[in-house]
Amino acid sequence: MSVIHTGVVGHPVSHSLSPIMHNAAYAELGLDWNYEAIDLEPKNVKDKINEIFTEGCGGLNVTMPYKHLAYTMCLAHGAAARLKSVNTLISDRVGKLHGYSTDGDGLVNYLFSQSIDLDRKTILVLGAGGASGVICDALVHSNARVLVSARKLDKALQVVDRVMSNQTIDNVRMKGEIDIVDWSLRNELIAGSDLIINATPIGMTKNKEPDPALPLDINAITKHQIIVDLIYNPLETRLLSEAKEKGCTTFNGLGMLIHQGALAFTIMTGKKAPIEVMHNAIRAHLKERV
Ligand code: NAP
Repeated sequence: MSVIHTGVVGHPVSHSLSPIMHNAAYAELGLDWNYEAIDLEPKNVKDKINEIFTEGCGGLNVTMPYKHLAYTMCLAHGAAARLKSVNTLISDRVGKLHGYSTDGDGLVNYLFSQSIDLDRKTILVLGAGGASGVICDALVHSNARVLVSARKLDKALQVVDRVMSNQTIDNVRMKGEIDIVDWSLRNELIAGSDLIINATPIGMTKNKEPDPALPLDINAITKHQIIVDLIYNPLETRLLSEAKEKGCTTFNGLGMLIHQGALAFTIMTGKKAPIEVMHNAIRAHLKERV
């Protein structure tokens, strides 16, 4: 039997951790599949993606900057249709491409797996970029009350508009609520928040050193808040370590990464993803890199 090829397309893409977790999962399930990072220069990208599928590709993840372009090439489902952004592409028997967005559900599934209840919970999301958009959509569809705060008010408004304007696609009615908070007021909203999610890059490792900055006033946090940082490099940002010292429950971005990958794995293979195996493979890789 010939190997079924899968992968992630983007530009650049060499930093992607997806090959590590998908190949570990294939090995665990004894699948003769191979997942690779495919860097596509920004010329004729649609043709190149179509060509990859014509050659018998079993599925592609799509990362920056091609998530919207992928949306324009396929029949988009669920969050991908709402957000006009696709991170997982598969081809059906007649060669039609279908697109999905698994990032937002990845975070929600991860939080559920950690017994975090989102129903009617107030969630303060810091940042209004790509990650914020997908998680706000998934949180609002999980019946949460989301407050988005970003230093550029227009970007926060864009996130709110996108979530609000797309509530009926696929007949999935939005159950939660979403609103914006001025960046200068975010610390005042902490006391009334159940969860706080950092969706900014503040705290990421840059030039091998973790960014020591904080996205909020740590003194405003009490042990009652759950703190989620979407960053996974470093595994523990200053925000998470100081929140932990205050007694908060904390989660880094690894869970979201693994669970979005697990959803993509199931879409591509039709099989349940071995989440622990994927998690261990990434953790081992990140530890080696330190
Ligand atoms: P993005 O599109 O560049 O958006 C970043 C957001 O953070 C923007 O609103 C940006 O504001 C804001 N921001 C950046 N620096 C800031 C600062 N110094 N002060 C205040 N706000 C600042 O990035 P993204 O793709 O959404 O990613 C955001 C974070 O999530 C990154 O750390 C990324 O690694 C992480 N992430 C994790 C996963 C996962 O699976 N765990 C997936 C995706 C992303 P401006 O527009 O004003 O610059």
